[in-house]
Amino acid sequence: MCTIRPIFYDQCSLSLTSLSDVKEGDIVFMCELKEEATYIRHHPKKIALWFAAMRHFAKELHQSGIRVRYITLNDQDNTHSFTSELERMIAAHNVTRIIVTEPSEYRLIKMVQSWQEMFSILVEVRTDDRFFCSIEEFKVWAKNKTQLRMEYFYREMRKKFNILIEDDKSPTGGEWNYDKENRKSPNNDIQPPKRIIHEQSSIVKDVLKLVKEHFSDHFGMLEPFDCAVSREQALSELDHFIEHILPYFGEYQDVMLTREPYLFHSVLSAYINLGLLLPKEICVKAEDAYRTKKAPLNAVEGFIRQILGWREFVRGIYHLHMPAYAEFNHLDANHPLPSFYWGKKTDMHCVSEAVLHTHQYAYSHHIQRLMVTGNYALIAGLDVKEVQEWYLAVYIDAYEWVEMPNTLGMALFGDGGIIASKPYAASGQYINKMSNFCKSCRYNVKETIGPNACPLNSLYWDFIERNRLKLEHNPRISMMYKTWDRFDADKQAAIKAQAADVIERMQQDRL
Ligand SMILES: Cc1cc2nc3c(=O)[nH]c(=O)nc-3n(C[C@H](O)[C@H](O)[C@H](O)COP(=O)(O)OP(=O)(O)OC[C@H]3O[C@@H](n4cnc5c(N)ncnc54)[C@H](O)[C@@H]3O)c2cc1C
Ligand code: SF4
Repeated sequence: MCTIRPIFYDQCSLSLTSLSDVKEGDIVFMCELKEEATYIRHHPKKIALWFAAMRHFAKELHQSGIRVRYITLNDQDNTHSFTSELERMIAAHNVTRIIVTEPSEYRLIKMVQSWQEMFSILVEVRTDDRFFCSIEEFKVWAKNKTQLRMEYFYREMRKKFNILIEDDKSPTGGEWNYDKENRKSPNNDIQPPKRIIHEQSSIVKDVLKLVKEHFSDHFGMLEPFDCAVSREQALSELDHFIEHILPYFGEYQDVMLTREPYLFHSVLSAYINLGLLLPKEICVKAEDAYRTKKAPLNAVEGFIRQILGWREFVRGIYHLHMPAYAEFNHLDANHPLPSFYWGKKTDMHCVSEAVLHTHQYAYSHHIQRLMVTGNYALIAGLDVKEVQEWYLAVYIDAYEWVEMPNTLGMALFGDGGIIASKPYAASGQYINKMSNFCKSCRYNVKETIGPNACPLNSLYWDFIERNRLKLEHNPRISMMYKTWDRFDADKQAAIKAQAADVIERMQQDRL
């Protein structure tokens, strides 16, 4: 008689609640599945990171004396479905109980909920305490509120966990948010910091071979592969970030530069989402950097807000609204995703850079996701499901619970304002202010009409005009309707015709 403790691919944490009381004879069960890697055709680097991190984690568990059953992708009996692999384990061992930490994604929660009846075995589902706020706590916070805003949630979290809070309960430095000191435009002083390159272990080498063999037709470059794949390596990434990069995090948070994917971003999301790093330890180290005068408050607060605020908030929203959330399409966006998202040539340098970073690194930073590929999808009215699938497939840190609210809610305003108080729609002017992209673009960012006009300019006004009924009364965007109404009829008609031409060229791969 034994207990089986299944571990999902993003649960590579020794502190996992389902592992807190492992007894001799219990089985910890992990498996590599084609089903997971291909139900969305994930970027090869992401698949390699999963398998390498899982194998390193399994080794760590084994070395600490825990009995691990690990099914590899090439195991000849592998059925490539989590439930049937678990069934195989149950049949082979005398299993009387399943203990599992709640999965992060809705479809996996449903799967776990089906096990008890299916196997006639007691299933104990434990809370995932790697988050600051549990799903239930978020529901309580959200109850009876007419509008949910990240800023207020974040303040509650700061107080509850005593992060950047003074003895009198006021926020450190007197303000909750220092964004006014952040977000500088690009300048010539920017020297992007060095990054750690991790040597490939024999596990990584094996995994790379495996991924090349099975998934090389997926979008994205597998190599070079220099990711952290173990807790030890992920901790070295965190320490490197805190010491060398965090001090500049805020200032250049929104800057975008050609051939510079990372700039001063932490590039930790993949490790946090996999469980190699814990959000609490990251926030503690970041606050400590401020208290010991190694990083300024604007940078530290801005960074902590992303993890303690945004990350927890989007997770709460996802679980609050699923499964209905996945069906939202508030702005009726339905143009098919153009092929330049999959790497086909486009003359729009901003988009082509973001896609290039994505292809090479399975990464582009937040502003590229939001204000380049996201903004284009928003103002061109691309199909919300296709856009979401793209984000879920191509980013190394993408899991539905965090990808969907960010894409559907924040970037596409597809949830009608549950996440964001306004659509993040922008013309080429924004990209020109925050990047050096327009300097190397064949389009002219200053023009709206004509063969050389930046496509984003007419698309922006077209977006404003065609969504009038849904957006005009939003106080954060209503002034744009006043501007549009001041354009004379000929100008309005010319902008609409230009936008229609842009859409036609997009559909014919001529943009
Ligand atoms: C359209 C779109 C899709 C996105 N999809 C994902 C996704 O699938 N997975 C994912 O982890 N993040 C996603 N994000 C949020 C954010 O862009 C990434 O977390 C960030 O770019 C990761 O890079 P970094 O680690 O260098 O982050 P940094 O800029 O260094 O930020 C620090 C940390 O804060 C957290 N964080 C920052 N912003 C967010 C946010 N909006 N939501 C949740 N966590 C946040 C991350 O854990 C990140 O590692 C998405 C954003 C947009 C606009
Ligand atoms: S000109 Fe327009 S399309 Fe070209 S990089 Fe600038 S914003 Fe992008």
